[in-house]
Amino acid sequence: MIYSKEYETMQREDLEQLQVERLQVTLNRVYRNVLFYKNLYDEKKIEISDIKSLKNLASLPLTSKDDLRGSYPYEAFAVPLRDIVRIHSTSGTTGTPIVVGYTKNDLKIWSCLVARVLSAAGITGNDLVQIAFNYSQSTGGLGFHYGAEQIGASVIPASGEEVLKQIQIMKDYRSSALVSTPGYALHIVSILEENGMDPQELNLSTGLFGSEPWSEKLRTKIESKLKIKAFDNYGLSEIIGPGVAFECDEHNGLHINEDHFIVEVIDPETLEVLPAGMEGELVFTTITKEGFPLIRYRTGDISSIIEEPCECGRTTRRIKRVSGRTDDMIIVDGNNIFPSQIEAILFEIEGVEPHFQIILNREEGLDVIELKVEVSSNLFVFDEIRKVQSFQQKIQQQLITSLGLHAKISLIESKSLGRTRGEKIKRVLDLRKL
Ligand SMILES: [Zn+2]
Repeated sequence: MIYSKEYETMQREDLEQLQVERLQVTLNRVYRNVLFYKNLYDEKKIEISDIKSLKNLASLPLTSKDDLRGSYPYEAFAVPLRDIVRIHSTSGTTGTPIVVGYTKNDLKIWSCLVARVLSAAGITGNDLVQIAFNYSQSTGGLGFHYGAEQIGASVIPASGEEVLKQIQIMKDYRSSALVSTPGYALHIVSILEENGMDPQELNLSTGLFGSEPWSEKLRTKIESKLKIKAFDNYGLSEIIGPGVAFECDEHNGLHINEDHFIVEVIDPETLEVLPAGMEGELVFTTITKEGFPLIRYRTGDISSIIEEPCECGRTTRRIKRVSGRTDDMIIVDGNNIFPSQIEAILFEIEGVEPHFQIILNREEGLDVIELKVEVSSNLFVFDEIRKVQSFQQKIQQQLITSLGLHAKISLIESKSLGRTRGEKIKRVLDLRKL
């Protein structure tokens, strides 16, 4: 179902006109109210009144997480603190967190945008939506919570309960939709299997997964194991949280809520704007946010824009599923490699779990790559040396054939790479910098 038909199926010219108008209002607001933007534009001699079309947007400087850190905690807010009614923040695992503030109106818009995400996945007022994101400073939990309430669904805020409790709730309360990371859904699958439980005992029919890149193969696995339809969605706390882009029934790219966000894709090296279809870094400009607007914000997420119209009837453009992050990219012998490419190869090999870690080291001036791969516990006993070796060679050969990547393979037992609820396995461990 299309939640906001008026906007989601708007004629392209009308949508672009709306974007320009909203962009101009936002630029005026940030120039007046946020010192960071005033200084930035004054310094670069930018007249915001010159921004008259979407094409002009590229003449504005890009912004990044590092720029925002200087504004910690509230300096980048475009309204007085008394008008802010909710405060979230990024995890801050890589430095000072980014604090995001919402006005009442921002929250209203946010709920409607998440309602679009849920509606596109077929969620209605009859659904029981179990949210397994932490209700914390991060935006996943509360973002989906109010979006689901917006469409009248019954929300089960399971939040940070441990996995067996989550499964119990899912079974007893007859949850029909699960909202979590794809990795967590996979974790539920393995706990169900371990405890000899049949997914058919559950009433689950839909999964909404996001907040980490995942592959088409992983989707197929989750769908077949949990007997559900799985939908990808995209968002990040700095922009608004969940509700930036989402999949429709076509499962062919994620529709961007373009009446609220302008998307660009840039070359992360040259910073040039790339045409549709070309892969690069996603850059977003918020055009309706009052509390914490962002202009040309670099997300670090890798994707590309799909311009072709979608079968579903929405006229908004789509982005391809995010394939990785610029800071996850490994450069080996001049080739750019993303962990998601390795994941896709591992999926082809029987008995390998899609859990792995890449360890980069330098020995005698050369880069050495080790790949720690979890294998199913029933595959073999680890003292069967010959079997282990032939299995390692198989993975090694696949990596060379597909990616030209020479790596040392270490097979480890299932679940030996540390992971807890909501926490992601650190995909890349780069020891070269230490
Ligand atoms: Zn569509």
